[in-house]
Amino acid sequence: MSFTSFQAPLLAKRLQGKVAIITGGASGIGASTAKLFAKNGAKVVIADIQNDLGSSISKEVEDIKYIHCDVTQENDVKHVVDTTMSKYGQLDIMFNNAGVPATRSAIQILTSDVEDFKKVFDVNVCGGFLGAKHAARVMIPAKKGSIIFTASAVSVTTGDAPHSYTASKHAVVGLAKNLCGELGQYGIRVNCISPYLVATPMLTNGMGIDQSKAEEIMSEAANLKGVVMKAEDIAEAAVFLGSDASSYISGINLVVDGGYSITTPAIKMALKAHFS
Ligand code: NAD
Repeated sequence: MSFTSFQAPLLAKRLQGKVAIITGGASGIGASTAKLFAKNGAKVVIADIQNDLGSSISKEVEDIKYIHCDVTQENDVKHVVDTTMSKYGQLDIMFNNAGVPATRSAIQILTSDVEDFKKVFDVNVCGGFLGAKHAARVMIPAKKGSIIFTASAVSVTTGDAPHSYTASKHAVVGLAKNLCGELGQYGIRVNCISPYLVATPMLTNGMGIDQSKAEEIMSEAANLKGVVMKAEDIAEAAVFLGSDASSYISGINLVVDGGYSITTPAIKMALKAHFS
């Protein structure tokens, strides 16, 4: 094999000819993913409620369009899918990524508020359900498609986030697996990506700290040292699950956490303290 032919696949645009919708694409993980999708040849529609941010990304990158969409409103989600189909004639990737955190008081059951619990579920779970429903509506006749959800590393851990948020992300994984079972017969793949902490506005605004402080705290708690997780790391996982490189992968929860969730930090810290 010549050097040139060996290099060629590496340089190929991994999503050439594909059309994607990314909910929550105006900020953080969704915005990074929208840009990486477009760089890889996809036409992208950002569906979000932050109109100024979404429109400015659309002005910056030619292949990214913005449509206002509150994922808790079925008509909004239907409108995004229908507008994408009218413009591009296909929908290959639905990235159900929009999400909200819980309020800080929800960390303890006795101070948890049921309205906060319902709000978190409304966006994180029902929003993803609506995205999957309307994507499936157009993907089933096409007999192909990739539906991806952003869950969280807290979908496989406990005690790392408020009850409502943790429960919502477990629910997202359950929904994705159930959809995988139903939609496989139509050639539609359904997967989750579960990130460790990323210093996006959700995290920094929620904690009331800046990006560098957030990354310092994240790095201290991380299993994998010497590298700080960025939104781009999740965008890469989404490109993989949206592309034909993952054509036989369905029903997985791709945990992108540097091994955090399979270690037991509390025991590790206690042992370290004991032996040092
Ligand atoms: P972010 O706040 O930067 O982005 C979230 C986006 O979702 C925002 O643009 C927001 O406007 C949008 N959104 C919120 N409610 C919406 C609604 N009703 N309709 C449409 N859009 C709505 O945060 P992020 O960290 O990029 O979050 C993206 C996803 O990643 C979320 O599902 C979040 O739960 C998940 N996640 C984040 C982290 C982290 O540490 N940042 C870790 C694990 C999982």
